[in-house]
Parts: sequence; structure tokens; C-alpha cells
Amino acid sequence: MTILTDSYGRRIKNMRISITDKCNFRCVYCMPAEGLPWLPKSAILTYEEIARLARVAVDLGVEQIRLTGGEPLVRRDVPELVRLLHAIPGLRSLSLTTNGTRLPQLAGPLAEAGLTRINVSLDTLIPHKFFQLTRRDALAGVLAGLEALEAYPQIHPIKVNAVAMKGFTEDEVLDFAALARRKPYVIRWIEFMPLDADGIWRKEDILTGAAILAIIEAHYGPMVPVTGGDKSETARRYRFPDGVGEVGFINPVSEPFCASCDRIRLTAEGGLRTCLFSEEETDLRAILRGGGSDDDLAAALHAAVQHKELKHYINDTRFKRTKRSMSMIGG
Ligand code: SAM
Ligand code: SF4
Repeated sequence: MTILTDSYGRRIKNMRISITDKCNFRCVYCMPAEGLPWLPKSAILTYEEIARLARVAVDLGVEQIRLTGGEPLVRRDVPELVRLLHAIPGLRSLSLTTNGTRLPQLAGPLAEAGLTRINVSLDTLIPHKFFQLTRRDALAGVLAGLEALEAYPQIHPIKVNAVAMKGFTEDEVLDFAALARRKPYVIRWIEFMPLDADGIWRKEDILTGAAILAIIEAHYGPMVPVTGGDKSETARRYRFPDGVGEVGFINPVSEPFCASCDRIRLTAEGGLRTCLFSEEETDLRAILRGGGSDDDLAAALHAAVQHKELKHYINDTRFKRTKRSMSMIGG
């Protein structure tokens, strides 16, 4: 099989798969308070369809798969899907992005099924701010979910992702940094992107990774960059000067990493997207359900990847918001 490579020579190694558009939170930077018109069950790919597509993608050079949503853990029997994907020869990493609320029940079954990495989203450690942001009173549940993960060292590292927003994030930067030193968590701040359903994003609200690093360094002294590893790594990583703990910054707006982007994304209903900000999708569900062969799926993947966008234009007058917001894409 020919390896998936786009027209700019970027090899595709990473596939994000959204397994549901539904969520039990309503984060202000993602979903409207009233939710969205959910997809009917019949529109969503089955676990067998997802696993078949994943097998074809891995044959074409995809090495890492991350399950996401919506909230992936609100879908039933996710460990069953993890088991199917874990069995694919050649898949090097299988991970999940979650808001963490269902981890107290699911951390064990996910670990047993073969999950190797996890990202838990947590933007604040203060209950009333958590409610303001997610519109749900669920901070204790997320913290319990993180604790539950610590019993399963096979899921490693535990990454905690926080969306950084000016006026919201700054006063807790040092508390999160302290958490990264106290617990086996890697805390990473992600710049807010214009993918919210309510259209509240404003460039002025971005709190850059550099600004957060400055807050940490003012307290702890110069941080030590962690270099090496994967060149398509999106996070700038730093160790504390005394070597206890690590933090990271994902800066898609202030320091775009499009030149080394190795990702494709599959929406819950089987749309293949080659960029978070894609205006077009390739309908893989139609091929899956229309009797298409694995070769047909491979050909569709190659054709889509040929049109992978050079970059996003968030910092440019050419920027256009996509029709889909983050939970409908799979962040
Ligand atoms: N529900 C899961 C969760 O929240 O982790 C998985 C899906 S969520 C869409 C994936 C990630 O996208 C989360 O870390 C979330 O914080 C992030 N996200 C959502 N909207 C965003 C935005 N407008 N800008 C930056 N990150 C965003
Ligand atoms: Fe749900 Fe994740 Fe979007 Fe928050 S960011 S509303 S948890 S999908």
C-alpha cells in the first residue's frame, strides 16, 4: 500500500476519530448552552465500521489514533472499540481525549482493553469557574476521574489539557503548575481557537503560551525546554529547573504548527477532514455503507489527503470560520 502523503510532502501518521457528537458538558468555547441537534444513531459509524476504516488507515501509514468527540465516554461500550482498535497490527499508539467525568467507572475497563494514553480536559480548579465554563457542576467528578487513572500505569502519560483564555486562566496558572509537580500529570495549555458554536471567540481573548510561560518562570525561574521526540509534536514542553514535573503549551494561533501537521480527522458520521478548519469533507460512510472495498476506502483517503490544506488562516484576513464547531469535528 502507498503511504499517505499530502501534496506538500507531509506524511499522515495521526488520525483523530470522533465517536459521538453528544456531550454531557456545554463548554462555552465549544457548544451552545442548549446543545446542538444531535445526529441520529443510524448516522453514526458503528464500532465495526470505525475499526475497518482504522485498519485501512493504519495500512496506509497511520501510526497513532486518538478517540474523541463530543464526549467519547458518553457512548456505550467504548472499551469494546478500544479492544477492536488495539488489535490492529502496526498501530503504535491508541489514546483518548475526554472531559473525565466517566473515568471513575471506565478507567479500569479502558486500560484492560488496551488504551495507552489519555488527555483529560480541565480548565479550572475552582468550582464556580468550572460551572461558569462548562455549565455543569462537575469539577469533583473530573478530579475523581484523574485519581482513578493513577491506578493504571499502563495508561501513560496522563495529560491534562486546559484551554487558555485571557482574564480566566492567568490567576490559576501557578496552581496548575503546582499540580504538574505534585501529581504524575503533564499540564498543557491550548490557545483558544475560533471553533466555538456561539461565535464568542475574539483574537483579543487569546492568552498565548508565551504569556503563561512568563507567569511560571516569574515564580519558578527559567524553565528547561524538553527537546527531541516527534517532529510533529504540537506542544512546546518544559521541565521545572529541579526536574519535578512537566508543562506544555499548544500554540496553534501564536505559533502555528501547520508545516509539520501529520493529522487527519474523522467525524462521528464518517466525514474525513484534513484540517480542523476544512471547508470540505470526504464522505467515507457512503463508501462503507455503499458496498465499497478496502481499496475504495484507501483511494478515497489518498484523494482527500492530496487536498490537505497548507495551513490555517486564523491570523489572516482570509480566515473563514468553518460550519462545524469543535464538538462536531472532534478536537
Ligand atoms: N469532550 C472531550 C473533551 O472535552 O476533552 C473531547 C472533545 S473536545 C472537543 C477536545 C478538546 O478540544 C478539549 O481539550 C477541549 O478543551 C478542546 N476545545 C474545544 N473547543 C475549543 C476551542 N474553541 N479552542 C481550543 N480548544 C478547544
Ligand atoms: Fe463537551 Fe469537550 Fe466540547 Fe466541553 S470541549 S462541550 S466537554 S465536547
